[in-house]
Amino acid sequence: MSNDNKNKAAESAAPASNFLRNIIDADLAGGKYQREGLPSVITRFPPEPNGYLHIGHAKSICLNFGLARDYEGRCHLRFDDTNPEKEDQEYVDTIIDSVQWLGFDWNRADGNHLYYASDYFDTFYAIAEYLIQAGHAYVDSQSAEDMAANRGDFSRPGVNSPYRDRPANESLDLFRRMKAGEFQGGEHIVRAKIDMASPNMNMRDPAIYRIRHAHHHRTGDKWCIYPMYDFAHPLEDAIEKITHSICTLEFQDHRPFYDWVIQRATEGGFFQQPVPQQYEFARLNLTYVVTSKRKLRQLVEQNIVSGWDDPRMPTIVGFRRRGYTPEAIQLFCERIGVSKADGWIDYSTIEGALRDDLDPKAPRATAVLRPLKLIIDNFPENEQIACSAPVHPHHPERGVREFTIGKELWIEAEDFMEEPVKGYFRLFPGNKVRLRYGYVVECTGFDKDANGNITAVHCEYFPDSKSGTPGSANYKVKGNLHWVNAADAVQAEVRLYDRLFTDATPDAGGKDFMTLLNPNSLEVIQAYVEPGMAKVEPDTRLQFERHGYFVTDRKDSVAGKPVFNRITTLKDSFGK
Ligand code: ATP
Ligand code: MG
Repeated sequence: MSNDNKNKAAESAAPASNFLRNIIDADLAGGKYQREGLPSVITRFPPEPNGYLHIGHAKSICLNFGLARDYEGRCHLRFDDTNPEKEDQEYVDTIIDSVQWLGFDWNRADGNHLYYASDYFDTFYAIAEYLIQAGHAYVDSQSAEDMAANRGDFSRPGVNSPYRDRPANESLDLFRRMKAGEFQGGEHIVRAKIDMASPNMNMRDPAIYRIRHAHHHRTGDKWCIYPMYDFAHPLEDAIEKITHSICTLEFQDHRPFYDWVIQRATEGGFFQQPVPQQYEFARLNLTYVVTSKRKLRQLVEQNIVSGWDDPRMPTIVGFRRRGYTPEAIQLFCERIGVSKADGWIDYSTIEGALRDDLDPKAPRATAVLRPLKLIIDNFPENEQIACSAPVHPHHPERGVREFTIGKELWIEAEDFMEEPVKGYFRLFPGNKVRLRYGYVVECTGFDKDANGNITAVHCEYFPDSKSGTPGSANYKVKGNLHWVNAADAVQAEVRLYDRLFTDATPDAGGKDFMTLLNPNSLEVIQAYVEPGMAKVEPDTRLQFERHGYFVTDRKDSVAGKPVFNRITTLKDSFGK
């Protein structure tokens, strides 16, 4: 096992402890969630199907599914589809696909744990009726303006609605008529009756049901009233018997209402102890990246990128098309850990995880990205001599790649200098270099066009210097260049991606991320690649020696006409 693999195995065998694991350990020790026929740890990932998942969601997915895996519990994938206007089946489909691609599964021996909040609409409704009957909720008929004004603010307590003490049976009648479609949106709303003077704004009689004459992508036109997120979410958790409901820090102030809802519903006989408990962790902020569905949508809709899966997008589908592996994203999420402290993760962390994952796996290949002709003047005309190179330098068992060398080759333009700078060991007149896996050559001259551009470099080769033959040991050179044979190289489109923003924190502190776009985030070039690349299938990851990791684009690449996306360079260049 290589060192890389050893580290990785160690990392996955003993996940780093964190505050959530400590809580779960204590709950397990105390027997808190011992229930007949149920695991003691049930988590959930609850996306709203109103956009594509991004790398921030990946943190939440890896956390929730990872805890379930490590504690032999289960994690539910649940669509929080209570807001019909913004939601769509397209998003349901991509979310399912992305979570599966990341390597997680909700379909287990004890059931298929894929859930939709919309399947619980009848239960939500019944609980709301119960709350009204028990005096814990009422129908408010104030205008939206009055309601906002009467809510108060952080320095001013709210004012009770004039409808707050209307009889329960009057509220119940209105609620039933709301459901029957007798009113327009905004005419009435159902509110929990808690405390308009609470220092926590979320406890000032929060809304629990509102009228929305909207078509739902799953329930159609059955409903014209929909539950509010803060009311529905705790009930979804309780219905599914979630144990640890993990969310991001901005929901900390919502926790008292989360507990209130579950407690009232439990008193009403809808649930039994032990009930779910909410815990908050710091969301992922990644430098050079925005993770907000709204902002990502803006990039798509204004054609800044080619779509949700543009390889520069921090969406899961974008990372996938860029060439990231699910293993790299999981490794990244493990390395960043979870805490309650907000902060920024440097982009080099996710690239580091990617390199650590790909280095031992990715086959090697040669690509010349900025081609310059190299002519071996003393090479036999029309002769192609067979050469080979290992598929992977540390895995000889993976075999060799075959290609040829001939009189005319392509080398990188930057591997030749007419007048070398100090410390330059590549080609310049009079210098010798090795053509990797081929011969040692000595540079003899070059051609220039009328504009002074170098159009070809000339050299002579040493026939007894071929790599892998005894004679090669007699040649000591400092430069070792990659190349492809003009006679058998394949031309290919290569897309060189760079960060999408010029600013490390493009949407922090009120900055307008749309003004901080990197105009050079994509460069498309025509390159030459070694002949074996002609038949490579879409979605194949490899390392072009000296250049970095690349993937054949899953949409635009076809065998015979490959298109390569650069996933990342070989070394970190982000800090520079
Ligand atoms: P956005 O803020 O991009 O609109 P969201 O929070 O509205 O995302 P949801 O579909 O509600 O998207 O999120 C599903 C889950 O993913 C939630 O539990 C949420 O806490 C979590 N999540 C969203 N963004 C991040 C992030 N940046 N880091 C960690 N978890 C996140
Ligand atoms: Mg949200």
